[in-house]
Amino acid sequence: MRLTFLGTGTSFGVPVVGCDCAACTSEDPRDHRTRHAAAIDLAGGCLLVDTPPELRLQLLHSKIDSVGAVWFTHIHADHVHGIDDLRVFTVRGRAALKAYVASEYHEPLSRYFRYIFDDSVAPAAGSSKPRAELIPFDAGEALTILDETVVPVVVPHAQVRAYGLRVGRLGYVTDAKTLPDAAIEAFRGVEVLVLNALWFGKAHSAHFTIEEAVEASRRVGAKRTYLTHLTHRVTQRELDRLLPSGVHAAYDGLSIEI
Ligand SMILES: [Zn+2]
Ligand SMILES: [Zn+2]
Ligand SMILES: [Zn+2]
Repeated sequence: MRLTFLGTGTSFGVPVVGCDCAACTSEDPRDHRTRHAAAIDLAGGCLLVDTPPELRLQLLHSKIDSVGAVWFTHIHADHVHGIDDLRVFTVRGRAALKAYVASEYHEPLSRYFRYIFDDSVAPAAGSSKPRAELIPFDAGEALTILDETVVPVVVPHAQVRAYGLRVGRLGYVTDAKTLPDAAIEAFRGVEVLVLNALWFGKAHSAHFTIEEAVEASRRVGAKRTYLTHLTHRVTQRELDRLLPSGVHAAYDGLSIEI
């Protein structure tokens, strides 16, 4: 199984507009972080995790020319506002994409993007809209996606919830503030764990700090942990130097075999 990190930045992205800090002015391309997305190659095709604003650029950068299904972790703007870029995968008579979303977000996502999900809204002649069928899921209830068993894993994210997943030896979570015991259990035995983390130090209401993510990674006991959803308060070089063994900072375009 291959995992490609398409976007590893927090909601502002890195560089942040108007900022001249070390990360925002860095010449290391790994310090350019677009908003969160990932591609997981499953037996039956590529599962795209989230549709952030830079989706088109990410697909071009990582040379992903086909997507088999989509997984929405939650419906914050930085995770869904590139949804229109799915259009390229459903034009010219191709089948609608299956888009998996937690039951609680089914109605609001349909409402935010009514032009996509309301069949009575037809694009003008000669134009198109993405074609996607929303499939609701619930935490802990296994699904078959692209010929593999995928288990949704729910995590608290300030006042809302985000939904990661377990597939084979991969555990993938973003936008978690903590890993509840049920999530630790669901991820037991994974080889690779992905967790969100913002920065070192001060706690945040909705996201792990790096220290908290490292601690969560220890509790799961994954062989390799990759951090994503990172901010401009840390550079990749600092992360490479400071993270404990077995914990790595992901960067846009990084692709790993599991
Ligand atoms: Zn986010
Ligand atoms: Zn900055
Ligand atoms: Zn979020």
